[in-house]
Amino acid sequence: PSDAIVLFNGADLSEWRDAKGQPAQWKVEKRELIESKGDIFTKKEFGDVQLHVEFQCPPPKGHSQERGNSGIFLMGKYEVQVLDSYQNPTYADGTLGAMYGQHPPLANVARPPGEWQVYDIVFHPPHFDENGTLKSRAIATVFLNGVLVQDNAVLTGPTDYMHRPPYKAHPEKMPLTLQDHDHPVKFRNIWIREFQELVPTKR
Ligand code: MG
Repeated sequence: PSDAIVLFNGADLSEWRDAKGQPAQWKVEKRELIESKGDIFTKKEFGDVQLHVEFQCPPPKGHSQERGNSGIFLMGKYEVQVLDSYQNPTYADGTLGAMYGQHPPLANVARPPGEWQVYDIVFHPPHFDENGTLKSRAIATVFLNGVLVQDNAVLTGPTDYMHRPPYKAHPEKMPLTLQDHDHPVKFRNIWIREFQELVPTKR
C-alpha cells in the first residue's frame, strides 16, 4: 500500500536493530531475512497497526515447539506465534496463529515447511491513564494465509511462558520485535501501516 512503511525490502536490515541498539545480526540471503542471532527490533515505534509478514518454516527437525519457531511481538510484548504447525501437534495456545499463551487460533491453516505463508494482523495497543492504570486492553485480529484465526482477541496482558502476567503501563508506541528461537525461519515482504483507531472497541 502507498502509505505502508516497508520494514524489509529484501535488501538490508536498515529498519532493524538488536536489543542493545546495535545493527541487527540476522542474515539476508536471496532477498530473504533469516532468523539468526538474537531478537531484532524495529528502529521505528508503532501503536495501532496493520502488519503484513510473509514467512517460511525450515525443513522439519524436532517436534512441537522445536520446529520452525519464531514470533512476531507487537510492541515487543504481545506475541503472534510463528511455528511449523503442519502435522506437528503442540499445545493449543502455542500453535501457529495463536496469540501465544492466551488464545489458540480459530483454525489450523498451516502450510507445509518450505512454503511461504502470510500473516495479516490488525493490532490496537492497550491504553493507560496518566497514573498508569489500565484503561483498555490490547486487541488483535489476525488472518493467516487469508483465513481468520484471531477475531478481536482481547489480550490478558503481555506474552509470557506458562504465565499470564498483568499489564504494566508502557508508551503508546513501541518497536515491533521478531523472535529468535534458534530456528532458521525465513521472512520476506514485511510492511506496516499506522492508523488511528477511530471508534475504540470496548474491551
Ligand atoms: Mg515463538
